Amino acid sequence: MSNKKAVVLLSGGADSVAVYHKLKDEGYECSGLFFEYGQPNQEVERFLVEQTAQKFGEQFWVQKVDFLKQMRGEVQTDAQAFVPHRNTIFMLLAANHAESIGYENIAIGYMKQDIAFFDNSIRHHELIQTIVQSNIKHDFNVLLPLANMMKSDVMKYLKEKNAQSVSCWTAKIVDDKIVICGKCANCRERELAELEAEGKAPF
Ligand SMILES: [Zn+2]
Repeated sequence: MSNKKAVVLLSGGADSVAVYHKLKDEGYECSGLFFEYGQPNQEVERFLVEQTAQKFGEQFWVQKVDFLKQMRGEVQTDAQAFVPHRNTIFMLLAANHAESIGYENIAIGYMKQDIAFFDNSIRHHELIQTIVQSNIKHDFNVLLPLANMMKSDVMKYLKEKNAQSVSCWTAKIVDDKIVICGKCANCRERELAELEAEGKAPF
């Protein structure tokens, strides 16, 4: 049995904020971990991560990993700061952080519908757990608190918890409030999930 301490990979997005709240529901001590890798809405994400950790009076860790962008050199042309093997790298760094502070779990926002990318799949996360376990003598687990939830369940849950999150790539902070564009693909996806959570889905 691992200890009830988890490093939560926080991005400020709905899934990561929900992971944090779920673990608090289950009595975990959490340490949020936020990576700055040159993503376009870094400031807004950081604001939300700070808000989430502060809500529970817990520490969070901000780690610059902008070298990932530099390592791609000339190849880096897209606006969304694409990082190959992003989850794999981030989860191993989270495991490193967990080991350093005596936490035996890391947690990530994998949801039921996440089937498009191998680096956010149950098989991937099980493999990460196996690799890390092979390096250490104590317990280590990759927790997936949202594994049985769809995006609409997550939105509903966050509403119950009165928790803010953001997925818009061009969101801004105005007077301590987050303003989203309402037009991008992420905003549209979120709007649909919110409608579905309210039982008003247009399909
Ligand atoms: Zn948007």
